[in-house]
Amino acid sequence: MKKTKIIATIGPASCTNDIIKKMVHAGMNGARINTAYGNADQYQNVIETVRKIAEIPIIIDLKGPEIRLKTSQKRALRRNEILEAGFDGDDEVSFNHDFYDTVGVGDAILIDNGKIRTIVTEKIDEKLRLLVINNGTIEDGKGVNLPNKRLSVSTLTDYDLEIIDFAKKFDVEYIALSFTRNVCDVEDLAKIYKGGIIAKIENFEGVQNVNAILEVANGIMVARGDLGVEIEPEKVPLVQKSIIKRCNQRGKLVVTATEMLESMVHQPQPTRAEVSDVANAILDGSDTIMLSGETAIGQYPVEAVEMMSRISNETETAVKSKVEDTNFVNISDTVSRAIQRICQSMPLDKVITLTKTGYTARMISRFKISQPIIAVTPDIKVKKQLDLTFGVQPVYIDYLAEKDTISFVASKLYSLRLLSDKETVLFTAGARTTMRHASNSIEIHKMEELRKFLQK
Ligand code: PGA
Ligand code: MN
Repeated sequence: MKKTKIIATIGPASCTNDIIKKMVHAGMNGARINTAYGNADQYQNVIETVRKIAEIPIIIDLKGPEIRLKTSQKRALRRNEILEAGFDGDDEVSFNHDFYDTVGVGDAILIDNGKIRTIVTEKIDEKLRLLVINNGTIEDGKGVNLPNKRLSVSTLTDYDLEIIDFAKKFDVEYIALSFTRNVCDVEDLAKIYKGGIIAKIENFEGVQNVNAILEVANGIMVARGDLGVEIEPEKVPLVQKSIIKRCNQRGKLVVTATEMLESMVHQPQPTRAEVSDVANAILDGSDTIMLSGETAIGQYPVEAVEMMSRISNETETAVKSKVEDTNFVNISDTVSRAIQRICQSMPLDKVITLTKTGYTARMISRFKISQPIIAVTPDIKVKKQLDLTFGVQPVYIDYLAEKDTISFVASKLYSLRLLSDKETVLFTAGARTTMRHASNSIEIHKMEELRKFLQK
């Protein structure tokens, strides 16, 4: 079974029962709904369809405070032309957020994913005069980026708040927080939503504050689409590597996203460079790789998931842990380090972790051990959330009321055929403790022998 997890964005090209089934079969581990498109009825339909097919997490991606262009008609822009744009809906061309005071003469304003570059040449009467640097066409709703700027808009828009209510109603496993800029953004969401939070790092401020952000978020998405416009694209590869490394160090979920197999939107085969990009994201230490347009609007959604699975299978055996030694953090951290050593130093087939919050499972996963990790949890939501963690196969077993939890879990896994007589396995659990982050015991058993004890 592959270890690298795959999120596929569900959209018009993939929202049917048949395609979702095929994508799950091809290796999809999580379904993302991008609320920048579509409506609540469509989201509900996706959630219900996915949940009928597989026990995998749903990721609701908030639209966030995207700046967009508003214009009544499509219009061609020519190089060196001056475009006048305001912030009032009555202006012929306007922006949906007022950033008049944030920009100055000489600043760049990018339209349509950076395709059209403009420079502010004048500011008069709440309007901007923009020098067009390259030809292009503007249209209502096109995205606007202000590279390297801090915007004073709130990260959660009214529309996002509605979507958060929707996510709560359907008890989704994760919300992805677009344009996360600082810890407060995550805390604001955490106050009103108790599920998993994936902070999307996609602008300058988010990159600057990522260390603090990942302490409070459950995971991070390296959202390279907007990031590559908000900061210079040539900076993205090293930012990607450093964010992933940091997440691995802290045992936080990390997703690498956007344009991974972009050409598969139109072609059944990716480019060699795209294949390399996916492989490198895995080698960097990503838990999860993500498909956006490829599966949402592309012509080959199933093939794109298959391709990612193939690249994963081929590449992940070469992934090495980048976790560094540190001073004492907590008991689970220490025990996970011991488990890594054990996995390297004896023939061992599987690692079984009994985990209430998923924490210990992620702490072990970050070491990229070659053995499969079975994460047994009594919490069905945690079980689904762990589906995005590298190398982890989550299993729901309610062991909380049991006296001898390891024996109980071992026999359950045996009857589920997830363990067999010929295997040597390592169990880790919090024994005689209810503390958080305290997997304090390690037991190593030959299953054949353990079963004799279980039968008594
Ligand atoms: P988006 O986020 O697809 O919601 O824009 C991902 C990205 O910007 O890379
Ligand atoms: Mn984005």
